Amino acid sequence: MKKTTPFIVGNWKLNPLTQKAAAELAAGVARRHKKTEAPYIAIAPSAVHMSEVSKKIKNSTVMLAAQSISFYDGGAHTGEESVGQVKDLGSEFIIVGHSERRAGGVTDEDVNRKVAKILRTNLVPIVCIGERKRDEQGAFFTFVEEQLRSLAEQLSAASMKKIVIAYEPIWAIGTGKTATAEDVKEMQLFIESVLTKLYNRPTARSVRLLYGGSVKPHNAKELHADGGMNGFLVGGASLKAEDFIAIARATE
Ligand code: PEP
Repeated sequence: MKKTTPFIVGNWKLNPLTQKAAAELAAGVARRHKKTEAPYIAIAPSAVHMSEVSKKIKNSTVMLAAQSISFYDGGAHTGEESVGQVKDLGSEFIIVGHSERRAGGVTDEDVNRKVAKILRTNLVPIVCIGERKRDEQGAFFTFVEEQLRSLAEQLSAASMKKIVIAYEPIWAIGTGKTATAEDVKEMQLFIESVLTKLYNRPTARSVRLLYGGSVKPHNAKELHADGGMNGFLVGGASLKAEDFIAIARATE
């Protein structure tokens, strides 16, 4: 995937209710995203809908992502999905450390274990980072830096280049409070500078960065043009095919 081509990922979370609705939504995205059209697009349905969604996007350029995976490859782990299982269903990307999962107890250490597992399976982890709130002293930068340091502890430069980092300030997720394009730009430069310190400049510049947090059709163009990231992770607005595709087109 060329980093210069934006990447838009739709995280459907625990939606929609029925398999039929999931199939319709997937078909709607696939129909609107014509074969040769940039940007890259992936959708992350809930695990129970993956198989149906996979059938609907099979003949399109829309790719499949998983919302999470287990630490385990199989065995007595009720209620989990393994990386092998989601790969078998056609998933190429796996979201790791989404704030909603971190709120449920997922730690930086868990994120690292999952990232290692995903890379071993040759899939791409989309690692979510981001502060809970902003403060005037800028302590949120330290928080983001710590998350990056923790991630970098186990990753060689070659591995770091393979992952996608989604900067998702928690205060902006599902709240309608979007970071401004200036905030996003500042964070893009900050993340690159931290990665430069931890690795080197070529590595920092080759990691794909996404922004996520209340991205909608009306703000996508400015966030993309001035925010300096390489795409979006979209929650709520990915549940309407028209809105999701409008966001994707805003990055063209
Ligand atoms: C998300 O869940 O990753 C997200 C960014 O959600 P929303 O777009 O609804 O803020």
